[in-house]
Amino acid sequence: MIQPPRITVPGLVRIKGGALARLGLYLRREGHGRVVVAASAGLPGGVLDTVRQGLAREGVQAVRWVEVENNEFETAAALFAELPGGVGAVVGLGGGKALDIAKYLAYLARRPYFAAPTALSHDGFCSPQASLTIKGRRRSLAAALPHGVVVDVAVCLEAPRILWLSGLGDLVSKLSAVFDWKLAFHHRGEPVEDLAALLSDATVHQFLANPEFTPQGMIHLGTALMLNGIAMEICGSSRPASGSEHLISHALDELAARPRLHGLQVGMATYVTCRLQGQRADTVDRLFQTTGFWDAIRADPFAREDWLAALALAPSLKEDFFTVLSTRDCLPEFRAMLDEDPRLAGCFV
Ligand SMILES: [Zn+2]
Repeated sequence: MIQPPRITVPGLVRIKGGALARLGLYLRREGHGRVVVAASAGLPGGVLDTVRQGLAREGVQAVRWVEVENNEFETAAALFAELPGGVGAVVGLGGGKALDIAKYLAYLARRPYFAAPTALSHDGFCSPQASLTIKGRRRSLAAALPHGVVVDVAVCLEAPRILWLSGLGDLVSKLSAVFDWKLAFHHRGEPVEDLAALLSDATVHQFLANPEFTPQGMIHLGTALMLNGIAMEICGSSRPASGSEHLISHALDELAARPRLHGLQVGMATYVTCRLQGQRADTVDRLFQTTGFWDAIRADPFAREDWLAALALAPSLKEDFFTVLSTRDCLPEFRAMLDEDPRLAGCFV
């Protein structure tokens, strides 16, 4: 008999205002009296106080509280080597680097991981990979989904708005990623996992119905980004969340003098790849107009030469990964887009 796929998904999900104050309660309820906390450097004092007081109130002891400043593999390995005895869970608090270090530490130590992002700037807080640097190069390492997802939407609304724009840029990229996946099926027979593709697509549409910088809008964004991570876990691949638009962003990370926020690069690349794919560019454009994404890019435009180089490099970045960029040389079309598409006017210098 064929065994159905077995996946592990978060058992505790709290995406609401005031969730961080209750983090201690959630941990205590699950029997975790001793935890390690990896927190981003420079978090607002109010956020730190809220978490510390919440832990203390519930008698949960942070036996190790580390301030994370980098996402180097060696940092996670050193924390693992020095892990105090009797630690029940690992908590990641803050932004991407702290969450990636905490996620990987939990994976190495085989402990449940609780992700508590303080901004929703990309889908990494609930993905099955940890993005770490090894000898200066960014690598995506296998890890596990968090056991707990605790997103305080009131705290996320206090974070700079540009982080929210980055988050919606990463979310909308699923439109292009899922299309690339289907292209890979049609051109090369790569199997598409229907449920994972549907879930990924559905999360975007739910957010598109209410793309607001409000508590409710933030709940939708957090839920959508989390479900993208689960879509990746379902199919054991990054396909539902990452396609040609992510290749372009990875290329920019390698060659741009000043790489930008992941979701800003990916969001812009999504508009470009949707145009190359001949689908959904209008949907992306509408979202970017409504939310002020275009305005934010124009306030700090991308470098045109970096993007031309990134588009040339992108198709070769990931071995055996078919996307719209594999179908033809897309550089001339992109060049024409830069010159002629009124939406892109002012977005590149
Ligand atoms: Zn992404």
